[in-house]
Amino acid sequence: MLQAPIPPDDTARLQELRSYGVLDSPDEPSFDDIGALVRDIANTPIGIISLVDENRQWFKSCIGLDAKETPRNISFCGHTILQRTPLIIEDALEDPRFCDNPLVLQEPHIRFYAGFPLISSNGLALGSLCAVDQQPRHLEAHQIQALERLARLAVRQMELKRQSRLLEQAAQAAPEAQEGLAPTSTPRLNQLLTSKEQLLSMVELMLSQSSQAFFGVMRLEFKELRRIANALGEATAMVLRQELQERLAALLPDNASCCELNDQEWLVLTPFTATDEQLGALAAAITQQLQQPVGVAQQLLSSQVAVGAALFQGNYSSANDLLSDAAIALRNAARRPGSHYSCIDLASRIQAQQDLQLESELRRGLSTGQLEPHFQPLFDLQTKRLMGVEALARWRSVNGDLLMPSLFLAAAERAELLGELDLQMIRQSIAASHAMARVHPQQAMVLSLNLSGALLESPTLLDELFALIDAEPLPPNWQLQLEMLEVNLQQPEADIAHTLDQLHQRGVLLAIDDFGTGYSSLSRLNRFPFHSLKVDMSFVKLLDAPDQPSNRILEVIQAMAEALELHTTAEGVETEAQRQWLQRQGFHWGQGYLLAKPMPLQETLNLLLTHQGAAVPL
Ligand code: C2E
Ligand code: CA
Ligand code: CA
Repeated sequence: MLQAPIPPDDTARLQELRSYGVLDSPDEPSFDDIGALVRDIANTPIGIISLVDENRQWFKSCIGLDAKETPRNISFCGHTILQRTPLIIEDALEDPRFCDNPLVLQEPHIRFYAGFPLISSNGLALGSLCAVDQQPRHLEAHQIQALERLARLAVRQMELKRQSRLLEQAAQAAPEAQEGLAPTSTPRLNQLLTSKEQLLSMVELMLSQSSQAFFGVMRLEFKELRRIANALGEATAMVLRQELQERLAALLPDNASCCELNDQEWLVLTPFTATDEQLGALAAAITQQLQQPVGVAQQLLSSQVAVGAALFQGNYSSANDLLSDAAIALRNAARRPGSHYSCIDLASRIQAQQDLQLESELRRGLSTGQLEPHFQPLFDLQTKRLMGVEALARWRSVNGDLLMPSLFLAAAERAELLGELDLQMIRQSIAASHAMARVHPQQAMVLSLNLSGALLESPTLLDELFALIDAEPLPPNWQLQLEMLEVNLQQPEADIAHTLDQLHQRGVLLAIDDFGTGYSSLSRLNRFPFHSLKVDMSFVKLLDAPDQPSNRILEVIQAMAEALELHTTAEGVETEAQRQWLQRQGFHWGQGYLLAKPMPLQETLNLLLTHQGAAVPL
C-alpha cells in the first residue's frame, strides 16, 4: 500500500483548516445536503465531505456510511489533497496503490473512489469531497464537472461559517464599535470601516487563537493629506480622504476591516491571507488605484500613497510586534518618492534595528559634543573674494571617523533630534565666527546655516532659536544667514510669515536652499522676506555639457531673481568654466569645490590668514 506523503505546506494547510473551526463540529444540514448531492450525482451509495487533519481524516458529512473519521495514513483523501484535480480510482483492487489498503480489504470494502480536492481561497487543500462505492464504477465528464462545482460550493460554505464565527468573536471582544464612521460613508465602506480599538482587538483575537489562519495587516500612509489640509483647508482634505476610503473599500475583500490611525495613516486587516504574494498583490492594487487624482471643488487632487504590509503566519505572538513590523515596512515604502508598497522582510527588520542603534548613538553624540560644524567658503563669482562661510554638520564619532550628514541626518530626523542638532550647529558656528573675525575684523562676512523643517515647525525650538540669536551676537561686520528648503515651508502661510518676520526683524538673512528642486512657487516665496536663493548644484553640474536645458533654467532663475531683487548663490561650482558662465549670467556668489571643500575651523582660519581678505586666487 502506498501511504500518501505529507505535503510540504502541511503546517500552513493545517492552520488554514483549523481556522474554519469546523473540525469536530456537530452535523449541519447545509453540509449534509452537499454529501447527499455527491451521492446523487455520482450514483454511489456513499457521499463524504472529508477534512484531512494532522493524523486523521474527519468527516464533516458522511452520507451512507456510519463513520466519523479514519486514520490519515490509510486514507484515500490524503492522496487527493496532493493534487488540484480529482483523484478517481475506478477499481481499487486493480490499483497497486490501494489494492492492499485496509479500507479496501476490510470494512467498508471500498472499490470505487472519486475525490475532489477542497481548495481554500488561499490555494490550500483542506480535504476532499468524495464519492465511494463498493462496486467498480466510471464517472462521465458531466458528473465530474458537477462534482467539481460542488466541491467549490462546499468550500464556500466553510468560508461563510468561518466569517460569521470571526465576526461574532470580534463583536464579543469589542462591543463598543462603530464610532469614527464618516457620516456620509457608503454601505460598502461602512461594512469595512471600524474603530481602531475594534480592529486592534480583532488582531489580538486572531493572534490568540492557536488554530488561527494566516492573515495580513497593512498600514497605509497618504503622504500628502496633511500638506493638502494645510494648504487647501481641512474641508477639502476631508473630501479627498473620504474618496480615498471609498476606493480602498472597493479594493478590499469582503472580510477585510480598516480603520483610521490618524489623519493620514490607516490600518487594514485582511483575514485569511496566506501568502506574501497575495498580500503584495492587494497592496500593489491599493497603491495603484489610490494615487489616481480626485476631483475636489474644480481641482484635481491626489496624494501619493505608501503601504507597509506584514503577514501573520504563526510568526508573531503580539499584535504590537506585528503592527510595528508593518510600520517598518511602511517606512521603507514611504521613504521612496512616489507611491509604493513594501512587505516586511528580514533585511528591513535588521535595518530598523540598525536605525535604532544609530539613533541612540547620535543622541549620545549630540549630548557629548561629538557634532561640530565644518565651514565651506562662499565667494564672489566676479572678484573671487571670500564673502562668507556655510556651516555644515559633521559627526566625529568615538572611533575618530568623520561622518557626513547623509549618514546621520535621516536618523536625526527620525529620532526627533534634528532641530536640536541645528541649534547646536548655530551655537558652535557663532562661537567660531568670532575666531574667524579676528583674522580680518574689518571684512564683511556672512555666516550661513541650515534650518531643518523640524525646527521651523516647533514653536519651542523656534523660541530657543530666537533666544540664542538675541543672546549670542555675531562679530561686527558679520551677518547671520539661515537657509531653508522649500519643502519645509509647507505650513500655513500665517505661521511661516510670523516665523520669518521674527528672524528678519533680528537682522537674519533668509535664503532658499537647493532652489529649483522643489516645485517653486516664486509668487508665494515673494510674500516672505527672503534675501537670497541658493541655486541647486544639479543645474550647475549640467553646465559642462553643451546645450543642456539647464542653461536655460539657470538663465530663467537668474532673470527671476533679478526681477525680485534676490541675491543668488550658485552651489557646486567645481570648474573655472562654470564660474565664468555663472558670473557672466549675473549670479552673485558661488560655493563649491573650485574654491574649497568644507573644512574644520582650524583650516578655515588658515585659509583666511593666507588670503588676508584678498581675492582667493582661483
Ligand atoms: P547643502 O545645504 O546643499 O550643502 C551643500 C552640500 O554640497 C554639502 O554637503 C557640501 O559638502 C556639498 N558641496 C559643496 N560644494 C560642492 C561641490 O562643488 N561639489 C559637490 N559634489 N558637492 C559640493 P554635505 O556637507 O554633505 O551636506 C549635505 C546636506 O546636509 C546639506 O546640503 C544640508 O542640506 C544638510 N546639512 C548639513 N549640515 C546641516 C545642519 O547642520 N542642519 C541641517 N538641518 N542640515 C544640514
Ligand atoms: Ca545649505
Ligand atoms: Ca544646497
